[in-house]
Amino acid sequence: MSSLESKKLMGLLLTLSLSIVSACKPSPPPMDAETTAKVQAKLAKADAVDGQVDKVIAKCAGCSLAMDGSPEHTMKLSGFTLHLCSASCKTSFGKDTVKILLAIEITEP
Ligand SMILES: [Zn+2]
Repeated sequence: MSSLESKKLMGLLLTLSLSIVSACKPSPPPMDAETTAKVQAKLAKADAVDGQVDKVIAKCAGCSLAMDGSPEHTMKLSGFTLHLCSASCKTSFGKDTVKILLAIEITEP
């Protein structure tokens, strides 16, 4: 009985603290300077892959830039606009954006 009560209380406290944290941090945790630089470099390369350096990455980053992205599924990252090929690609790419982005091998044209 008493352990159930304390579990309830713990759950309540956890929910409360989580809502406070999420209220303070609506966006993902900030990247460190090194990661930011890597992401910027990768985005700039990816931007050039579609033939136009316009801060719009027209190829789907979720498909390692192998597919054409669609303006219907866009995402902003470090000042670049990324076009993803589908809603599911956007979802999976959005879950681990930095990791997936940095894993893309971009061959120089
Ligand atoms: Zn895709």
